[in-house]
Amino acid sequence: MNIAIDGPAGAGKSTIAKAVAKELGYIYVDTGAMYRAIALYILENKIDVEDEESVCRACNEIDIQIKHEDGIQQVYLNGRNVQADIRKEEVGNMASTAAAKKPVRDKLLTLQRNIAETNDVVMDGRDIGTFVLPNAEYKYYLTASVKTRAMRRYKELTEKGETPDIARIEADIEKRDYQDMNRDIAPLKQAEDAIYVDSSDMTIEQVVRFMCDRVK
Ligand code: C5P
Repeated sequence: MNIAIDGPAGAGKSTIAKAVAKELGYIYVDTGAMYRAIALYILENKIDVEDEESVCRACNEIDIQIKHEDGIQQVYLNGRNVQADIRKEEVGNMASTAAAKKPVRDKLLTLQRNIAETNDVVMDGRDIGTFVLPNAEYKYYLTASVKTRAMRRYKELTEKGETPDIARIEADIEKRDYQDMNRDIAPLKQAEDAIYVDSSDMTIEQVVRFMCDRVK
């Protein structure tokens, strides 16, 4: 059984997908983390993301492994656990740029399909319902207004002790939306058979209920 949850940055996909997976006893697969791991490699090795040859070479040098430890996904980049390092803003922004490159998408597609073939999964990302798992039994397109998403991110960072700039967060979200929705390969869009969920005025519990009730 496969459940696909797609949507823009900051829509709450990972929180919701994690909770849905827990309730149903499925594995939660965060595909954004895989793009972030590649982005981290690009940043750490100062690779020119606009140079196709360099990106191709990097993809050949990268080994990404996904493990589930106590039900929580851990991402390993060439044997190193990068779960914490990939959460930084600059890594997310680079992930969005790198995710538009074909060698990067090709590399992760096989990994994502293999996991879904051998497990019951709740997989979140941008192109899961449209491209990675077109035959997923359930598909959701989860979104929220830019303002709501920026405010959620602002709170998250403030709780971590950071002093973020809300206008900057909003601008980053808009830029990321634009890049993700307008790229040539696997752009973010709602699958025809996906259920649209706007979480702007919903609590996490309400969204989780809505999704799980349909599956049961
Ligand atoms: O969801 P998250 O913010 O971690 O994703 C980081 C970036 O990875 C996104 O902005 C998007 O460009 C890319 N991504 C993607 N396809 C996916 C998951 C993430 O292109 N399935």
